[in-house]
Amino acid sequence: MIVMKFGGTSVQDAKAIDCAAAIVRKRLHERPVVVVSALAKITDQLLAMAAAASAGNREKALELSRAARERHYNTASDLLGTHAFEQIAPELEADFNGLDELLRGVVAVGELTLRTTDSIAGFGERVSSKIAAAAFSQRGIESAHVDSRRCVVTDETFGKAVPHFEDTDARLSEVIRPLLDRGRVPVMGGFIGATRDGISTTLGRGGSDFSAAIVGAGLNATRIEIWTDVDGMMTTDPNLCRQARRIKTISFEEAAELAYFGAKVLHPATLLPAIRKNIPVLILNSRNAGCEGTRITASSPKSRNVFMAIAAKKRITVIDVVATRMLMAHGFLKSIFDVFAYHRCPVDMVSTSEVSVSVTVDSNESIAAIAADLAKLADVKYEGRKAIVCLVGENIRSTPGIAAKVFGAIGDVNIRMISQGASEINISFVIDESDVPIVVSRLHDVFFSEVDPEVFA
Ligand code: ASP
Ligand code: MG
Repeated sequence: MIVMKFGGTSVQDAKAIDCAAAIVRKRLHERPVVVVSALAKITDQLLAMAAAASAGNREKALELSRAARERHYNTASDLLGTHAFEQIAPELEADFNGLDELLRGVVAVGELTLRTTDSIAGFGERVSSKIAAAAFSQRGIESAHVDSRRCVVTDETFGKAVPHFEDTDARLSEVIRPLLDRGRVPVMGGFIGATRDGISTTLGRGGSDFSAAIVGAGLNATRIEIWTDVDGMMTTDPNLCRQARRIKTISFEEAAELAYFGAKVLHPATLLPAIRKNIPVLILNSRNAGCEGTRITASSPKSRNVFMAIAAKKRITVIDVVATRMLMAHGFLKSIFDVFAYHRCPVDMVSTSEVSVSVTVDSNESIAAIAADLAKLADVKYEGRKAIVCLVGENIRSTPGIAAKVFGAIGDVNIRMISQGASEINISFVIDESDVPIVVSRLHDVFFSEVDPEVFA
């Protein structure tokens, strides 16, 4: 069997869902399980409803809900026609009434718990999956809607719940297998799960890729397809460099390094359950279904190019911590990182000397407070508008002279920090945000002017 996951833009309206049905139809012989996101932007809107309700703004919350209701009804009736729409309308109506009830409840108690937030946030996938299942059936694909909360068992970390894999795998076998055996196409919502007590949870924003991997791993899929609105992973951002090429095949390890930079295409955590089971993940474009996309596998074929991709991440702040009196002292790094931990701020790149530490973080509101706390330990300065440029490729391991070639190509650019990670498949460095276009296009010229046709399109 295979898993086919359709992201928000691939189910955004009747036309998109119709297109998804056509894509699924071509795969019926492979016994697909379909995982869908909420219609594009709906999760954001649901969170806006929750926020309005908790701020006591009843009118706004209900108005947003009414707009979402209308969009779902329109999508469903466009897809199904009057007769079939009338069959599922009562169920959708009950769902949306339930949502409104929840929102009124939040207004009434004047409090929004994480638990309630998850019930509201996961609503989009609950209804999108019902609509998709009905649309598929109506197009002659024998499908069965499955409430993912019956299958994906998680802990109680509302907002970013962690799956209990053993329970989940057992439930998947129990619920999904019999449907597949009867020739049905199970259609389930991504992003959502439930605790052992049946309380709704979500897996974190962008979590429906993760759902696809959980389902694929649990059912030992031969392949997981992530249908989105781009042709796959690229050698670099095509907006930065028009020569960007599609990557045909990449290793899990390389894709994971890039995921932090290209989270728009792929949620990093997606890969984990699939890696464990050695299941290939394909990124495919539902608007260009003929394109073969990007195939992510445990080990990629050896490329003649050193790098697979050049990624750049903007909105980075570099924080420098200098403490001469710490020379030869121990515990210095720990006390610094404790500050970041206390502020729940992830640190990305780190470089150290005997008396100083530089770290990068995504620019965020708590940096001033972090700096103030660090200033109790040492001298601190910080600077925003930086970018991390990252070159990824397993061939770095076996190719001498790479750093010289990289930095030689951009010898006139000011480089603020350099790091070559323990994974040995990534060279990263920090520059001014404004230097990103020139740096990326020069490096792309050097490393991708000729490409291995087995690996790049
Ligand atoms: N709908 C959810 C979100 O927007 C999950 C997903 O689409 O992956 O975060
Ligand atoms: Mg997504």
